[in-house]
Amino acid sequence: ASARTPLMAGNWKMNLNHQEAVHLVQKLAWTLSDKRHDYAKAEVVVIPPFTDLRSVQTLVDGDRLAVKYGAQDVSVHESGAYTGEISSGMLAKLGCSYVVVGHSERREYHAETDAIVNAKAHRALGDGMTPIVCVGEGLEVRQAGEHVAYTLAQVDGSLAGFTPEQVAGLVVAYEPVWAIGTGEVATPDDAQEVCSAIRARIAETHGADAAAGLRILYGGSVKAANVAGIMAKDDVDGCLVGGASLQADEFGGICRFY
Ligand code: PEP
Repeated sequence: ASARTPLMAGNWKMNLNHQEAVHLVQKLAWTLSDKRHDYAKAEVVVIPPFTDLRSVQTLVDGDRLAVKYGAQDVSVHESGAYTGEISSGMLAKLGCSYVVVGHSERREYHAETDAIVNAKAHRALGDGMTPIVCVGEGLEVRQAGEHVAYTLAQVDGSLAGFTPEQVAGLVVAYEPVWAIGTGEVATPDDAQEVCSAIRARIAETHGADAAAGLRILYGGSVKAANVAGIMAKDDVDGCLVGGASLQADEFGGICRFY
């Protein structure tokens, strides 16, 4: 039990065109409008591909839906000759509330370092959006028992240069790479071990208020059937959901985590 508002964020990855996006958000909004459940307990966020954002904005604004949205990545640059990149200013203009930075797929396939992730997080916050800063170890690191130290080093690097007041408003997502898209969910105790270590580290580096405010998500094969045990842990404030966020019923079930 904490004062932190639970956050359920659905990362669609490279799935769904803009028409399919509208369809899914409409279905999700329908699910969330079921008064038999208290969906207002969590902030619900969808994170579609860039090309869907304008359509999602129009739908969410037009129908005043209780769904927020964000982007999966952002450029480190403000503007200019960076073909193919999308700036934080463009995303803010589209009404994005959140920006995922440093997802393990970006770190792995696009060689994103903590310094790059940090620069992206600063860009997002600078334009008034909340970065969801992803960290987490791969299987070899886990098997070597180095997962806490490895993840804390990513936290240190990715959050460099933020003030304690800024950190209090950020979101960190702990996503063990071996649990992403594999069906291999970390146990609630595994999630709590690392999430509590992250909060303790922030208390050391940025103080108690920053640690108390920071929301820490777990990500990795979260489903409606396993979310309750994970969310019962003190230092888990929400989930970053991949595959299961592509179905309105399943993601709705995750949003009924309590
Ligand atoms: C993710 O991509 O952030 C993720 C957690 O994926 P999945 O839920 O599919 O494991």
